Amino acid sequence: AAPRVVVVGGGAGGATAARYIARESSGAVNVTLIEPTRRYYTCFFSNLYIGGLRDMESLGHDYGTLASEYGINVVHDWAVGVDRDARTVALAGGGSVPYDKLVLSPGIDFKEGAVPGWDLSAQNAMPHAYKGGSQTELLRAQVLAMREGGTYAMVAPPNPYRCPPGPYERISMVAHVLSEVNPTAKILIVDPKDGYSKQALFEEGWQKHYGGMIERIGPDFGAQNTSVDPAAMTIDIDGAVESVDVCNVIPAQRAGKIAHDAGITDGDWAPVNPADMSSRADPDIYVLGDAAQQGDMPKSGYSANSQAKVCANAVLGALTDSRVFPARYSNTCWSLIAPEDGVKVGATYEPTEEKIASTESFISQTGEEPEVRAATYQESIGWYAAITADMFG
Ligand code: FAD
Repeated sequence: AAPRVVVVGGGAGGATAARYIARESSGAVNVTLIEPTRRYYTCFFSNLYIGGLRDMESLGHDYGTLASEYGINVVHDWAVGVDRDARTVALAGGGSVPYDKLVLSPGIDFKEGAVPGWDLSAQNAMPHAYKGGSQTELLRAQVLAMREGGTYAMVAPPNPYRCPPGPYERISMVAHVLSEVNPTAKILIVDPKDGYSKQALFEEGWQKHYGGMIERIGPDFGAQNTSVDPAAMTIDIDGAVESVDVCNVIPAQRAGKIAHDAGITDGDWAPVNPADMSSRADPDIYVLGDAAQQGDMPKSGYSANSQAKVCANAVLGALTDSRVFPARYSNTCWSLIAPEDGVKVGATYEPTEEKIASTESFISQTGEEPEVRAATYQESIGWYAAITADMFG
């Protein structure tokens, strides 16, 4: 019988891995993809939706091509358990799926109690919008419904978290909308971190495009001591209570629950071997994307996609004796500060014994000409089309 690969999670890491394993093995490997949603809405470019520059449908992708063109068995269900001795994955709908190799790419969940006063039952009053789809739509609707001169607050997450520049690109896009429809509104960022990704670029851009609208409170002013009251729509920063009109709470994060249930996590994340993304706890399991603890790569869709290709190559090598190439990884994170004002940061990576280590890196410069920024934005549009085709076929 053909060897069996089960992939849990049909996002940036999982969809790519499933597609590459199925395509490169030309049917010699039986691939099952377990993913509860029938349509995946990318978090990448969701800030552009909030900024009114993309519609929601352009961010949605389904799994039909993976099934029809690549022969992947797409199961729309939740994986609720992994029996590592029997090598089976249990499904919420009942039954279980056997595997020879298991790939987990479940993304993130939020750490309970990370922001006192907030839990998932409060996510409609205070959205996170840090998983794609309805939360993103809710947040944009709330921004558009803000009273004149109102306050949008963001409680930013501590490191490490999904998409390091994501919260700050979001601030940029909210500022873009407000500067058009509600120019006296204010934006308040409450941030437990000393600094953040592309900070000089964002601060320069905010000054240029949205002067005076955005204020950031960092740890020096007690930001790591923040709680919220979703019923009262207040935020308490180290004892100072403030009323806000929108409150975007992005809590601290950890690997998706199924990685913890599989018993392959150490603390919040799942440690992996840098050469092939296999779990350090189980050679038959691979962990991709945000859930993995791998070293220097940021938690991004680009990283997850890059890791998935290395993993697919290693899985095929193990199951079919095909040639395994030395691992090379790469990442670029683009962010949009204002329409046509795009910036980027990126790097290439190689495995060492202990981690995936950055080898070369680049970042946009402050003071760049508008043409450079416009070209950077165009580059990101090309990237979005290419990566979603690489994931979903
Ligand atoms: P995901 O893509 O989240 O996929 C996980 C999938 O697993 C989900 O579809 C989920 O339904 C499924 N799943 C979870 N648990 C189970 C289970 N038990 N059983 C079955 N299925 C399960 N990255 C970039 O590269 N560029 C960007 O510009 C960018 N912008 C971003 C902006 C924002 C606002 C945010 C929030 C993120 C952004 N990212 C960006 C980050 C990117 O979205 C993530 O890093 C990427 O999606 C991670 O891929 P993943 O496969 O680990 O998880």
